[in-house]
Amino acid sequence: MMNILLTDKCSNTCPYCFAKQKLEEDSKLNQMPLENYKKVLDFLRISKSRLVKLLGGEPMLHSQIAEFINIVSGDDDFDAIVVFSGGIFDRSLAYLLANEKINVVLNTNHPSDYKDGKWDIFIKNLDYMISLGVDITLGYNVYKTDFEYEFILDLLDYYKIKNLRWTIAVPMHSYQNLHVPFEDYQKMGNRLTEFLLRFADMGVQSRLDCFVPLCTFRDSDYGKLIKTFPHMAKGGLCNPAIDVGPDLTVWRCFAISSYGNVKLEDFPNLRELTNFFKSSFDHYKWHIWPEKCEKCKYRLSRICQSSCLSFKVREIKNFLEDEKRANSILEKARELADDIPSALLKYKEALLIAPHSLTIKAESALFYIKTGDFITAEKLLLEIEQEYPDYPALYVYRGLICEKKKNYKGAIRNYRRALRLYPKDEELKERIKRNRSLDILTMGVI
Ligand code: SF4
Ligand code: SF4
Repeated sequence: MMNILLTDKCSNTCPYCFAKQKLEEDSKLNQMPLENYKKVLDFLRISKSRLVKLLGGEPMLHSQIAEFINIVSGDDDFDAIVVFSGGIFDRSLAYLLANEKINVVLNTNHPSDYKDGKWDIFIKNLDYMISLGVDITLGYNVYKTDFEYEFILDLLDYYKIKNLRWTIAVPMHSYQNLHVPFEDYQKMGNRLTEFLLRFADMGVQSRLDCFVPLCTFRDSDYGKLIKTFPHMAKGGLCNPAIDVGPDLTVWRCFAISSYGNVKLEDFPNLRELTNFFKSSFDHYKWHIWPEKCEKCKYRLSRICQSSCLSFKVREIKNFLEDEKRANSILEKARELADDIPSALLKYKEALLIAPHSLTIKAESALFYIKTGDFITAEKLLLEIEQEYPDYPALYVYRGLICEKKKNYKGAIRNYRRALRLYPKDEELKERIKRNRSLDILTMGVI
């Protein structure tokens, strides 16, 4: 899944806005050019992703929105389009959304959060979209513990809307947005339970974006919620959302959008892009936790990541700086290729500086494999596997170890596993072939 940010223009002033920081940082291009949009669609096609998700700012403010929507709606490679809108846009564009492929997630705030008569515009646009038969899901962001929700019930009931997406607003770092502090999540557990079960009673399907820490709810309430909303059984974990901006910069999600940005063109498909974020960021979920989570069984068994990464940004920044320092030490180690004892000291130093970095561990594992210290290499690979079992190099390096030990069957098994993750990797195919031949030769000798 990937969100396409069409424009940084917005007609709303949501008090919890999580996009403003990123949109302001990247204001070189304030709307996505058609050429870039087509590149994103090609990327989705190659990735066999049949869903297109359009975001902003307010995507309906993009000057070519009609063309953008028509391109996707007329393309058989795509089955569905989700437009995330705040509902404040020129009403004459609403007809674009009346299309069987399109679902509009209409971000809805309490009437008191709208300024300058915008609540009236919102309601008039909603009325009009409903009259056109637009398929609407209401979106709702909880940003305070005593959040109001009766107005959402009224809207769902009045317009007979059957879907709700909700999430909890999280902090941004270069400006202040309203959000629920991590320590206060439990204070709203009862209210959230009541809110969700009331929607369920109305026959409304609700979907949680991101995640909620497990201890937000009492155990008995959580059981009820899982029975009603089975998707909540996935636990307190989130996955990369993947957002692509107007200039094709990509980031994991808004919570940590200042870090680890990459370019769409540098990745062959969505799977590899997702793997990049998983291997470079997701393990931080488990290395940083607030004091109250220290001994929690859900954290220890990796069912709850304790909080959104946005609450861990400062620590992540430190980890990334450590990783950078460790990388520069590895650069020196590479120059010492012929002096193994000195290189070894550098690898040890890098591992001490960035003990949680998967890339440093992986590169060190390769060094140990080359020097024949398979025990240390396997230990590092095991640590990587515990963090991220799909880490790109994991099975390749295990294959190398097997190969060096003349365990050709083991090498083939590991390379095949790697090939399942990277089916187009020609080098892996070659390695499998080579090990098959070596295995047959060995059998001949026996
Ligand atoms: S890990 Fe922390 S946030 Fe998650 S359930 Fe345990 S105490 Fe709560
Ligand atoms: S870190 Fe996870 S929970 Fe936080 S915004 Fe990103 S995807 Fe959502």
